Amino acid sequence: MPSSSSTSPYSRIILKLSGESFAPTGERGISMPEVVHIAKQTVRAAQQGVEIGIVIGGGNILRGAQFTAGASSIQEATGHYMGMLATVINGLALQDALESLGAQTRLMSAIKMDGVAEPFIRRRAKRHLEKGRIVIFAAGTGAPFVTTDTAAAQKALELECDILMKATRVDGVYNDDPEKNPHAVLYDHLTYNQVREKNLRVMDSTAIAHCMEHNLPILVFNYRNDGNIERAVRGETIGTRVTSAAPAPA
Ligand code: UDP
Repeated sequence: MPSSSSTSPYSRIILKLSGESFAPTGERGISMPEVVHIAKQTVRAAQQGVEIGIVIGGGNILRGAQFTAGASSIQEATGHYMGMLATVINGLALQDALESLGAQTRLMSAIKMDGVAEPFIRRRAKRHLEKGRIVIFAAGTGAPFVTTDTAAAQKALELECDILMKATRVDGVYNDDPEKNPHAVLYDHLTYNQVREKNLRVMDSTAIAHCMEHNLPILVFNYRNDGNIERAVRGETIGTRVTSAAPAPA
């Protein structure tokens, strides 16, 4: 349950931020104005009294899968470890952006990295969240061949979050790629089964399976609209919601 002073229907959430949210559209690397833009929205969302854990991606720097094409001398698993380290770089940038705005934060890594980040320990992570710290989870699951979507689902389940919010650069889940097809239709609600049957690109399949098995709601929404992270946390109707059953007709 949310605290009595909370304006959110949620008590604790996981926010999944892709690495691409850290760079201008179509570019790679880290642009601190972009990071600060996300951080400002996150701090305002946290001020609503909800505990926020952030799982950060690394695709703005690299993804393991990019090394599988052609005659790469980098083994696939090595590429994935490189991708996990990329998420730590993003985590450090996000931590400083959040702290420059006065937020209390902790950076926890699934790969042990003394001197850079705390190791992920579930009970400690919960304690940080209870104390109102924004906790950034880096290095994904710590294991190769999955993405940070799976890490986000796992963290949301481990930390007993009410919802997994996935921030994307489009308004939610569409029946086609809205950046290529101007007639693509936005869904306001989907069931886990519909996501699987229609092969919709909400999150990777392992992440969807985790959420479905444990009935964890997912919200996919656009982080580029200023204030959307706060709206999502307030429980406003934005983006696409994925749950086990279709909502009852109004
Ligand atoms: N990765 C991994 N295991 C994990 C999480 C991430 O191997 O548990 C690697 C994987 O190669 C992935 C990369 O790290 O492509 C960066 O993460 P992701 O692609 O999820 O970043 P995003 O697309 O969210 O920016």
